[in-house]
Amino acid sequence: MFKGIRYVGRVRPEQAAAGVLDEVPVDLWPRLAARWLAKGFDSGPLRQLAALQPGEAHAALDLMPVALRSIGFDPAVADDQFVVRCQAALDVVQRDLDVTGFGRYRVHAGRPGGWPVMVFAVLPDGSYWSGAWGMTRQMNDAELLLHAAGSVSGTIEDVHEIEWPVCAVHGDDPATRYLDGMESVDDIDGVAWWWCTRAGHGIAQVGRLTGGTARTLC
Ligand SMILES: [Zn+2]
Repeated sequence: MFKGIRYVGRVRPEQAAAGVLDEVPVDLWPRLAARWLAKGFDSGPLRQLAALQPGEAHAALDLMPVALRSIGFDPAVADDQFVVRCQAALDVVQRDLDVTGFGRYRVHAGRPGGWPVMVFAVLPDGSYWSGAWGMTRQMNDAELLLHAAGSVSGTIEDVHEIEWPVCAVHGDDPATRYLDGMESVDDIDGVAWWWCTRAGHGIAQVGRLTGGTARTLC
């Protein structure tokens, strides 16, 4: 978690490149860049970053990887490791897609440009839903799986207007529809579960859907 303004001043470029920067609000990145300048690091991109106003978050996200590389710290290694972890979680969710007949939705771990604060499930055509359930570096594997599942479900619903997965018992019940505010995944004692949004119960652990528990395409 963010540990305060004084902590920001102590984040070194090599720590930033290793992913610590995720814990620092983007608004404070220009100030951090200014600190690095004061410590003797110098480059055009770093000066540009230091000159940004607190509200210029998009520019800061784009500039930070460039600025880090320009002073000799490449964030790519840590980013690649993070993306591999996200893909492993998405592969578990893919198994549930496949077993329910939705295997045509191949999901891969993708990140918007610039600094990869969050990784999302991305469909083959590049579409994804960034409304929620992004995967972040600080998450443990169980949390990553929960968010991978939410990201897949949210993307298929947002991009294709298809609800997935749907409980086999309540999915065709016309008397029940979405319960307000209920997500399709939930954390139950630290384990990611698919959640029936119509009757409010666990369907199956993520990665363990079957044709008997979830509605399956013919
Ligand atoms: Zn149900």
